Amino acid sequence: ERSGIGGGADDKVRVVVRVRPLSEKELRDGHASTVKVNQTMCSVEVTNPNNASSLSNSSDEPPKTFTFDSVFGIDSKQVDVYNLAARPIVENVLEGYNGTIFAYGQTGTGKTFTMEGVRDTPELKGIIPNSFAHIFGHIAKAEEDQKFLVRVSYLEIYNEEVRDLLRSDQSARLEVKERPDVGVYVKDLITHVVHNADEMDKIMTLGNKNRSVGATNMNTHSSRSHAIFTITIECAQIGPDAKQHWRVGKLHLVDLAGSERQSKTGATGQRLKEASKINLSLSTLGNVISALVDGRSTHIPYRNSKLTRLLQDSLGGNSKTVMCANVGPADYNYDETISTLRYANRAK
Ligand code: ADP
Ligand code: MG
Repeated sequence: ERSGIGGGADDKVRVVVRVRPLSEKELRDGHASTVKVNQTMCSVEVTNPNNASSLSNSSDEPPKTFTFDSVFGIDSKQVDVYNLAARPIVENVLEGYNGTIFAYGQTGTGKTFTMEGVRDTPELKGIIPNSFAHIFGHIAKAEEDQKFLVRVSYLEIYNEEVRDLLRSDQSARLEVKERPDVGVYVKDLITHVVHNADEMDKIMTLGNKNRSVGATNMNTHSSRSHAIFTITIECAQIGPDAKQHWRVGKLHLVDLAGSERQSKTGATGQRLKEASKINLSLSTLGNVISALVDGRSTHIPYRNSKLTRLLQDSLGGNSKTVMCANVGPADYNYDETISTLRYANRAK
């Protein structure tokens, strides 16, 4: 296995893993944990629960070990995840580069907990609200002659269709367009100028509400859609040449659709069609990231899904990307946990 730390492309794409604690229900039902985190080695070890461990049977599978840029165990704090995984990306965006932070994983493993966290509990705030505080804290401390303009948009990709989460009419489907001067963009997507973290928070809340309004079944819907919260930061400053210089950085905060294999759920018809589109965008994302990390690929398959197409200008080049792979440690999730760790391992 390659080391994910230091140098070159590794610095541009980082992959971290977060293991959530067993839920109260899982504990009550007597489920065992299959995942062990080794903080100093930045690795996780997963043991097959089907092993007849008490008999030390020689046919037992040895535990599988995966190494990442950082690992966050069941006691990890939101602030630690922010500081280690997200802060460098946001700092880069404040310098005028693009960045993307993804939460990947099976439904129920903590993607939304990691990205949004728990409202109104300061220490449980996730990456998105912490980045708001970080950005406006930076602006408050900036030099007198620096002027900032911060804009946000919030969209969702469901079934390869784009919906604006800041629009009250959730039936509208937006078109993805491309122009030589601006690149790929979403036509008619609403962007709001925001002046402080509080305003940004209200916009996120509105978008989250719309995300569930458009859905017949909230849980199913949010587990099948990708939500992209985008913050664009423009900074103008008078340079030594006495002219005004602009720099623009864009940050995408992405709560991905659940990675669970849909075939297992016995989906048919419409569900199966949805499932194949989710699988397509997640596998395309995996292919894009591994091609970027590899560095030798001449073809990066951005165009194969809406998700990667929309994020094209923020994956690769001078952009920084963090993928946070979330896993649940319970024994019945063993297969999905292995599959998430393999996906994440390939991305680094
Ligand atoms: P997902 O978005 O991946 O479907 P959620 O973020 O909704 O998963 O998490 C599922 C449940 O587990 C929620 O009740 C959440 O509060 C809880 N949870 C997730 N991660 C953690 C964590 N690191 N610590 C404590 N609780 C967590
Ligand atoms: Mg979620």
